Amino acid sequence: MHSSISYDPMNEPQLLDLAFAALVDHLVDLGEPRYRAAQLWRAVYADLVTSYEAITTLPQGLRTKLEACLPWEALMCAQSHASADGRTTKVLWKLQDGETIESVLMRYDSRATACLSTQVGCAMGCQFCDTGQSGFRRNLSIGEIIGQALAHARTLRDEGRRLSNIVFMGMGEPMDNYDATLGTIRTMNDPKGMGIGARAFTLSTVGIIPGIRRLANESIQVNLAVSLHTADNQLRNSLVPANRTHPLPKLLDACRAYIEKTHRRVSFEVALIAGINDSIDHARQMAKSLRGMLCHVNLIPFNTIRKSAWKGSDVEQIHRFKSILSDAGIPTSVRQSRGEDIRAACGQLRRRDRTSY
Ligand code: SF4
Repeated sequence: MHSSISYDPMNEPQLLDLAFAALVDHLVDLGEPRYRAAQLWRAVYADLVTSYEAITTLPQGLRTKLEACLPWEALMCAQSHASADGRTTKVLWKLQDGETIESVLMRYDSRATACLSTQVGCAMGCQFCDTGQSGFRRNLSIGEIIGQALAHARTLRDEGRRLSNIVFMGMGEPMDNYDATLGTIRTMNDPKGMGIGARAFTLSTVGIIPGIRRLANESIQVNLAVSLHTADNQLRNSLVPANRTHPLPKLLDACRAYIEKTHRRVSFEVALIAGINDSIDHARQMAKSLRGMLCHVNLIPFNTIRKSAWKGSDVEQIHRFKSILSDAGIPTSVRQSRGEDIRAACGQLRRRDRTSY
């Protein structure tokens, strides 16, 4: 039932929550011509301005009116940490109700990716995840999700770069806040605004089957990443408790149906934990389960969390695992986790903020 919880501090719409059509309606209700909505939209999402005052294409009277009736910003930067090489920045955001979330900006040679949160905390309770161990607080609004992306886009603009990719792999389960996540994608995809291509979005899920089925029927074709972690149903029950509601065989069926409908490849994310899910038998079982699917496996060395005795698998074991999948014809890569020196694993910065800063 928690998925309906969201925070509306003023009980009135906020600028970044509105889709373009709703913004047009709002301005028409204020007695303004429709083209004012296009001017405002462009200023916020293409020019990346941060206040009504800065939108000089709008008359002063309208700017004052909007200031009073359509609040703008939902996020405040509480902390920002850059990795030693300067390519990764992790930001802790404070929301209007005092809750905190985080997002990460990763700079690559040919692209820049923002990893966004969709909830405060998470109800999925994954055993290896700091956020999951902290529990669920509430859903984020569209504005609170987009606010993270806009802030990273402004940082990149100041560096002469552009935000090109979005992954929903921060705090929370995006499929558990489906409408806000899809609303965010639609706004960011608009070519009159941020113009981020549909294929540059990756929606990551622990495997919420109704969400996967819904996504298959959306008109916008984004990438789907499923946090698989193991093809052993029993083990997955303990690593990813959501597996008890959405068991592996049914999850893989939903993925096959998604592929059939969209003709798009599914990514399977696998965090390899030494002695837990990284054996040769685990690899063979995964190869058997995924053989013939239009998919890609990302092996990620597990990022140790606080109070956990678990360690990431060593490089040799990761490569043995990879060989077994590759030999079975399953495209597999090893992904380096970015920014370990700034605690980039999900939930870690927020936990530290609450406990020791
Ligand atoms: S890994 Fe993702 S889905 Fe699982 S508890 Fe953490 S934030 Fe939630």
